[in-house]
Amino acid sequence: MIPFTGKCHMRQLVKNKPQPVGLKNFVVTTSEGLMVDFEIYFGNNPALLHPLGRGPGVVLRLSQSIPPGSCIFFDRLFTTIPLLEELKNRGYHGTGTIMANRVPNRQQLSFKEDKKMSRGEVDQRISDDIVLVKWKDSKAVLVASNCTGGTGIDKVQRYEKKEKHYVDVDAPKIVTSYNAFMGGVDVLDQSMEYYRTFMMTRKWTLKVILHFIDLAIVNSWRQYRNEMLANNTPKSFRFEVAETVLNTPSRERHESSPEVEPQEQPLVRYRPANDPSVGKRYDGFDHFPIFDDLKAPRTCRLEKCKSRSKLRCRKCDIYLCLNRDKDCFYIYYNK
Ligand SMILES: [Zn+2]
Ligand SMILES: [Zn+2]
Repeated sequence: MIPFTGKCHMRQLVKNKPQPVGLKNFVVTTSEGLMVDFEIYFGNNPALLHPLGRGPGVVLRLSQSIPPGSCIFFDRLFTTIPLLEELKNRGYHGTGTIMANRVPNRQQLSFKEDKKMSRGEVDQRISDDIVLVKWKDSKAVLVASNCTGGTGIDKVQRYEKKEKHYVDVDAPKIVTSYNAFMGGVDVLDQSMEYYRTFMMTRKWTLKVILHFIDLAIVNSWRQYRNEMLANNTPKSFRFEVAETVLNTPSRERHESSPEVEPQEQPLVRYRPANDPSVGKRYDGFDHFPIFDDLKAPRTCRLEKCKSRSKLRCRKCDIYLCLNRDKDCFYIYYNK
């Protein structure tokens, strides 16, 4: 959900979400929570109507962003039998919980009644290449798939109120893998709430832009973390991104104002600026030199250079040599 409580014809209310009111955004993520594609819910937009229905239409459109052969998991809002068949035709594996009223020929399939099933019991039917598994936990759930069946049995832990301890309950593999792989969306939702950018605004467009900036940061952080798992991830990834993207020195410069007499100006001790982050240093953008009118030149920032310079990078606020003999400016930003 993109939180927004102001006026907008696309606003929705979805209960059980950390941000229940706002614009609905359908996402496809990897099982670990990396977003691959999205689609904002537009209400009854005739252009987005799909012969298989609204939910299946979203799944089929978003599935175009993932390679065939992938296993896609979706919840009961989306699952229909025709959707699973269409995914199979397109070369995708699909699994999802399904509402009982969306199962055709329910009578012929004749699942066991909920009441007659004991906890952990599995009832499986196959109809036209689609596997339907009914499993009783505290309530009965129905899972449909075009790739896996309910033959493998795992154990899940459930708290038994009467006996006041955890017990192992049999669960078909299809249910345990559904739970494991569906988690990606929750992981993404959760990471979004950690550092959501807040702005008081009545413009839903602005909220959407902010949401997607946050999403881009969360997503890039996840990819970055995957690459860096062996090393230590910097704790302030968001800060580092901001520092790199900002096109100004990381602190204010004490400029001496010309109106005040030099004697009256407070004596500010020069403190060298911090090194720019690696991202900022090599972004190849806007590092322009300016010549400072200084009494004494300042130490060149290039590693191993012992010279001094009056030439400063406007963006990073650091001094680097640039003269007939030395081009530390170029070397610093390119090597
Ligand atoms: Zn610079
Ligand atoms: Zn130098």
